[in-house]
Amino acid sequence: RQRLDEVLAHSRRGGEKAGILFLGLDNFKSINDTLGHGIGDKLLRGVARRLRSTVREEDAVARLNSDEFAIIQTGINRPEDVVLLARRLLQAISEPFLLDGHSVVIGASVGIAMAPSDGDDSERLMKNADMALSRAKNDSRGTFSFFEAGMDARAQTRRKIELDLRAALQGDLLRPHYQPLIDLKSGRITGVEALVRWQHPERGMISPGDFIPVAEDTGLINVLGAQILRRACMEAAAWPDPVRVAVNLSPLQFRVGNLLSIVMDALKQSGLPARRLELEITETLLLEKSSQVLATLHALRALGVRISMDDFGTGYSSLSYLRSFPFDKIKIDQSFVRDLGANRDAQAIVRAIISLGVGLGVTITAEGVETEDELACLRAEGCHEAQGYLFSRARPNVEIVELLRAQSIVPEADEAQVA
Ligand code: C2E
Ligand code: MG
Ligand code: MG
Repeated sequence: RQRLDEVLAHSRRGGEKAGILFLGLDNFKSINDTLGHGIGDKLLRGVARRLRSTVREEDAVARLNSDEFAIIQTGINRPEDVVLLARRLLQAISEPFLLDGHSVVIGASVGIAMAPSDGDDSERLMKNADMALSRAKNDSRGTFSFFEAGMDARAQTRRKIELDLRAALQGDLLRPHYQPLIDLKSGRITGVEALVRWQHPERGMISPGDFIPVAEDTGLINVLGAQILRRACMEAAAWPDPVRVAVNLSPLQFRVGNLLSIVMDALKQSGLPARRLELEITETLLLEKSSQVLATLHALRALGVRISMDDFGTGYSSLSYLRSFPFDKIKIDQSFVRDLGANRDAQAIVRAIISLGVGLGVTITAEGVETEDELACLRAEGCHEAQGYLFSRARPNVEIVELLRAQSIVPEADEAQVA
């Protein structure tokens, strides 16, 4: 940083250009893990030597952190000078390293920021070079990338979310909150839906819409899904008996092949009877018409678990999906429930879905009910169940326990009937 400040002061006086190159090693951790830290240390020294011998005397090389190095290139006349250096650096690293009899190959990526155009203080330049490095790593490893103004702030956020999410999963920091489902005949809570919540140390509560897609892109969804399922079953096991818990499943959880055993383990460990667990899937899962997916769904249902079709009406809504599997419940997506009172089209669609459900002998649940008007409309159409802010938002387990306790204090006669 000191050297960079000097270079920048110099460039301010003489109008000279400089390049800041961040070089990151790919998969350095796996070398440490498989060959040991001794070899890892030697590899870093080997990399440093090659970097030194590739740059000129007056350029600076520094190690930033475990697997990242920075190079300051001065006296740049043409932009190509930086490209040439980046290529030479990548080339130098790509040759195998011979360490204690092991031939070790490691890849690298380079991010480049230019002074003064990409920033005239060291803080900003280093941040921009780092951003360019992330882009290079994301694009395809073994390449270099220049910083661009306004460069994918989105990609950055995603990367940060991925890193934080890994830590949150390791620290078991994600929690299901639960939103009640109300039976419209009795007015009672018959079940609740588990909705994952992430209390981020800096950013506060992050909603699933912001991190489920990242979890799906990175494969973290499998760990996340299993954690939420396990905890939801544990907590639900302590609720009064007929109350069910619904857990959302990502299509990706069906790809891994161990979903059935994960569900069986969650039930066994918690002692929750299978009939009190509901699994929500979406239409996208059935798009591929995979026989493996159907087999898994049938096996789950054979356990006694109920299967719901979530967000119905938003995907392809092929009626053949409803025939391909005996769903226990169809959840009408909230976009149809919105404006039910005023919008005739929405009314017609909701009416059709409800009569479809009645014909198939399937429970129909309306999602996202916010107003009395919407509720009145749904009642008039004969909808079975509703869920939405009108009744309650998703709440932490302690509050759900309270709610369920309050509703289980029923008159003597009712209790006798239940027994
Ligand atoms: P979803 O399964 O359709 O869940 C319903 C979403 O609608 C929830 O959003 C809920 O908070 C919201 N909602 C409920 N009532 C109302 C209402 O009256 N008005 C409005 N405007 N919204 C309402 P949330 O919690 O943000 O979850 C979003 C989606 O993230 C869920 O949609 C589900 O697809 C996914 N998700 C949540 N938890 C998990 C999980 O544990 N695993 C997986 N794979 N996906 C999850
Ligand atoms: Mg759902
Ligand atoms: Mg839904």
